[in-house]
Amino acid sequence: MVDRVAIAEEAGKYLFKIDQWFASSKTCSTCGELRDDMPLHIRKWACKNCHANHDRDVNAANNIKYQGLKMLMAAGLSVSAY
Ligand SMILES: [Zn+2]
Repeated sequence: MVDRVAIAEEAGKYLFKIDQWFASSKTCSTCGELRDDMPLHIRKWACKNCHANHDRDVNAANNIKYQGLKMLMAAGLSVSAY
């Protein structure tokens, strides 16, 4: 089995695994509002709370990035905004 954590550390990086059930697609990356559902055929949507327009995949990527940044900060590791 490949030790991805060790590989990341050798490269001077950190690797955190995000819960596979983390609702990256149906959480608004602007305000955090969680939708009840998000069928796969919906590719673009507007948040009912803050009215931000989202591309499904870009929104999910942003949520995963923010989750990773939270995990880095929780681990006491200093991170830049990007
Ligand atoms: Zn929102």
